[in-house]
Amino acid sequence: MISLYKTILPGSVIGIIGGGQLGRMMAIAAKEMGYRIAVLDPATDSPCGQVADVEIKAHYHDMEAIRKLASVSDVITYEFENIDHEALVWLQENTYLPQGSELLRITQDREIEKREIVRLGVPVAPYQIVKTEMELEEAVVQIGLPCVVKTCLGGYDGKGQVVVRNYRDIEKAYDLLLSDKCIVEGFVSFEKELSVIVSRSPRGDVSFLPLAENIHVENILHQTIVPARVDETVTEKAILRAKQIAEGLNLVGTLAVEMFLVNGDIYVNELAPRPHNSGHYSIEACESSQFEQHIRAICNLPLGGTRLLTPVVMVNVLGEHVGITLDNIELLKSGKLHLYGKKEAKRKRKMGHITFIGESVENIIETINALPIWNEYKMEVQS
Ligand code: AMP
Repeated sequence: MISLYKTILPGSVIGIIGGGQLGRMMAIAAKEMGYRIAVLDPATDSPCGQVADVEIKAHYHDMEAIRKLASVSDVITYEFENIDHEALVWLQENTYLPQGSELLRITQDREIEKREIVRLGVPVAPYQIVKTEMELEEAVVQIGLPCVVKTCLGGYDGKGQVVVRNYRDIEKAYDLLLSDKCIVEGFVSFEKELSVIVSRSPRGDVSFLPLAENIHVENILHQTIVPARVDETVTEKAILRAKQIAEGLNLVGTLAVEMFLVNGDIYVNELAPRPHNSGHYSIEACESSQFEQHIRAICNLPLGGTRLLTPVVMVNVLGEHVGITLDNIELLKSGKLHLYGKKEAKRKRKMGHITFIGESVENIIETINALPIWNEYKMEVQS
């Protein structure tokens, strides 16, 4: 097994599993530093493929393609968590995968992830794991209404989730059990959703992005506001929770910790072992972006500073927002537009984001609200 950490210098090739927008933004940061990029993705001309030096088109579980990626890369990283177990084991034994496979194993399964968070002494919403309809019904009674049922494997952006508000809703969650075990979680009446993105290198450098306040609409991130509009004590607590988890799980690479703020307390909702949508603001607004920090971390370079340089609000551009955004491009003076190069603008698909900077988050939000984009969300975001 290859386990010794090495320093990967610019000029080397970074292999990325997954060719989506996170891979693309990692690749752009890496290329600025002088690295070359190879990417494995089932599609050609993927967002990352468009900026990579080498594109390998194959499924993530295609072992021949994984071997090919390994043969052209000096270090391997990934942009999403659902990598096939066999591929992961092979990668860990035969390539340089400084992030290892343990964090992926934990975050691929909500049951294991919750157990680990609890083991580290970090509060989470009450939960139970269920495998049958009867267990589901019993868990709903025990946890109480309302609650949220989520598949343990493979869900994202609210996919594989059902909110159970009354006993009749339980039936809607039966289908989730067809795929695998589920988690039933108490519904948290949070004041805010927050996230901290932490990076750690093998040499032990750790950095945290400034605390982000996140607004979701229909379970998909809509806006990230930084600085988060919370007391200093909440900020400290949130960073401390992220630190506890990153240290407890021996993080190498980047970890996003998603949290709920409830009566001044922090509950951790979910972990993502990679750069995260709620850290995109850091490209323009921080000394070093989450993508640069991630590349520095996996290459064992010293991590950069993450000081916030300006108040900032990041807004996602979903499929239904692309047309109106481009029609109003003249109005995006203080907005930095990022489009990911995806061809098909499907509804709810993340096509890009815009980062708005300004004197205060209040001013920025006013500017955003005056734009004719995201009109259907404005009522929900007011609250
Ligand atoms: P997740 O896939 O777990 O990140 O959930 C997506 C979004 O659903 C979260 O960002 C929250 O807005 C909402 N959500 C998830 N779990 C809960 C919960 N237990 N209580 C309240 N809202 C939740």
